Amino acid sequence: MGDKALMNTYGEKAMTLVSGEGAWLYDEKGNKYLDALSGIAVCGLGHSHPEISKVIADQAAELIHCSNFFAIPSQQQLAEKLCDISGMTNVFFGNSGAEANEAAIKLARLHGNKKGIKLPTVLVMDNAFHGRTLATLTASGSRKIQAGFEPLVSGFVRGPFNDIEALKTIANNNPDICAIFVEPIQGEGGINLADADYFQQLRDLCDELDWLLMFDEVQTGNGRTGMFFYHQYSGVQPDVVTTAKGLGNGMPIGACLAHGEAAKLMQPGNHGSTFGGNPLASAVALKVVELIESGDIYQRAVIVGNIIMQGLTDALEGVEHVKDIRGCGCMIGVELTKPCKSLYTEALKHGLVINVTADSVIRLLPPMIMTDQEAQQVVSILAPLIKDFQ
Ligand SMILES: *Cc1c(COP(=O)(O)O)cnc(C)c1O
Repeated sequence: MGDKALMNTYGEKAMTLVSGEGAWLYDEKGNKYLDALSGIAVCGLGHSHPEISKVIADQAAELIHCSNFFAIPSQQQLAEKLCDISGMTNVFFGNSGAEANEAAIKLARLHGNKKGIKLPTVLVMDNAFHGRTLATLTASGSRKIQAGFEPLVSGFVRGPFNDIEALKTIANNNPDICAIFVEPIQGEGGINLADADYFQQLRDLCDELDWLLMFDEVQTGNGRTGMFFYHQYSGVQPDVVTTAKGLGNGMPIGACLAHGEAAKLMQPGNHGSTFGGNPLASAVALKVVELIESGDIYQRAVIVGNIIMQGLTDALEGVEHVKDIRGCGCMIGVELTKPCKSLYTEALKHGLVINVTADSVIRLLPPMIMTDQEAQQVVSILAPLIKDFQ
């Protein structure tokens, strides 16, 4: 056993996890770990959720897959539910965040070509992350992700995040731009939040220039920030929204939602996916969305996030190498003044799963179903590790 037959895309693994329940994971030796990462913003409702496991088992016994040549009622219901929640009108289902984003980029190009633009161009942000396919790695703002994969895809220009004036300047110099694609909170880029009025400014700019406003909510979506989609806090109606990660609580599914003219761009033959929105994935995601919408999940996301963020803020007050603590709901970043990758291993040794992104930002994406006590436990394990970090 071991990694020797796998492509070396992820480096060495710390351990093998064999089971999970709620906010807890268990390794093959029976050690338990408090999960403050949720499989990278995926298992927002926790591990082995009994109602989700039941839908998986029941649907698997009924019908797993039939292709999109046939109507799939759970897929239609899921689309309607997502539209009801978001004010969007039509949905395309894929199997991942990158695929949802590919659909968005294709919508932008259909829009640009329809307008008669020669080289339809999408405006993307510094430090963005949109996925690992060729178009989405080109859209991402990290050389590390792009290096070695040249030639990159044409039709992208880049500007700074949370700086509307800079985008206006770019707009003046680029008549080929037809869309803006932006994460409302940058996840991989280090939990970077925008000013409250940024989203309306983006909406106004897009309206003025007939661009599509497209939000990548692959990480921020599905209740994590205390709203189903983070942009809903702003009241702004985008033309396109993508999501994935938390949508299936671990069942692979991605969605590209569109509104208005953008929702009418795709025609039969334009796009497709063999697996996308199949009966199994759709039934599970439908259950996940129902669970997020019912009960107190949004409230929990905010409470859990506040306990962790406030707890860390109090415990780390005056610690010189802590630069900033920021976030929204169950999406929290602790930025240090120095690279801190090793804190990931250190936290594991203390029974806590975290992540470090953008070199020096500790990223916490805990499941929204954490109890207050578990959230406090995240703080009591993590704060001393950060404090003592050399
Ligand atoms: C994770 C992520 C993606 C890529 O999703 P995959 O399912 O890994 O393809 C895209 N955008 C954002 C904002 C993400 O966090």
